[in-house]
Amino acid sequence: MRLILLGPPGAGKGTQAQRLIAKHGIVQLSTGDMLRAAVAAGTPVGQQAKSIIERGDLVPDEIVVAIIADRIGQPDAKRGFVLDGFPRTVAQAEALDRLLAEQGLKLDGVIELRVDEGILLNRIEKRVAEMTSRGENVRPDDTPEVLRGRLSAYRAQTAPLVGYYAGKGMLKSVDGMASIDEVGAAVDRHLGSGGSERRRRPKAARLAKSKARRKAKPRNAAKRAVSSARPQRKRSAAKRRKTASGRPKNCIRRRLTRT
Ligand code: AMP
Repeated sequence: MRLILLGPPGAGKGTQAQRLIAKHGIVQLSTGDMLRAAVAAGTPVGQQAKSIIERGDLVPDEIVVAIIADRIGQPDAKRGFVLDGFPRTVAQAEALDRLLAEQGLKLDGVIELRVDEGILLNRIEKRVAEMTSRGENVRPDDTPEVLRGRLSAYRAQTAPLVGYYAGKGMLKSVDGMASIDEVGAAVDRHLGSGGSERRRRPKAARLAKSKARRKAKPRNAAKRAVSSARPQRKRSAAKRRKTASGRPKNCIRRRLTRT
């Protein structure tokens, strides 16, 4: 299974990606996590990306596309992946199309988590205040000021992907403001893997099916009774054992081996 989770920062993409990897045994490919790891390791990519991430801007397309191209080719991604935070521009989406086509792979779907930006900002402000009061570290790009910038980058550069994937008939939208479980159930329904959430057949269809099954039973029973009572079966078995001379086959075989 290969999926894209689309939505602004704070929409819950990471949380839903975690659910999906546990459920489907696939890997989460988060460009944000990969870039933060590169920053922490001080790699050339990390050094280039550090200040961009802290400002809440987007890292150049060629950098993230190269990271994803490398990651998709690794063995653990063979079973499938959920892309979280990539693509973020139409150019990245087009590069992904080319990458997948080169490897003969296809996307199974794009799930958009729709959220209310005002509520999202309130949530982040509350979370940052709580974390600060507990003396915890807040990600430098998770402050309300930077988040405003990230949201406007989303609107300008990433939101057009909704139209891009809708045009390809791949987009499924989910209400990202619902609870984590409700969002998860809606995602599962879109992927056709609802488990207990799977929708039942309409009542009329269920009744028709059980009626048909009841009808079919006596007919099958009658069929079995007729076939077991068929006399010609016995005759044809006896015929097979006999030769043209009327002797049982075994007799001939014994005569031939005796010479
Ligand atoms: P995230 O954790 O996905 O919100 O990403 C954190 C930051 O990493 C973003 O604000 C960007 O600066 C950068 N980033 C992550 N993914 C991409 C991407 N696909 N394209 C450009 N920049 C990205």
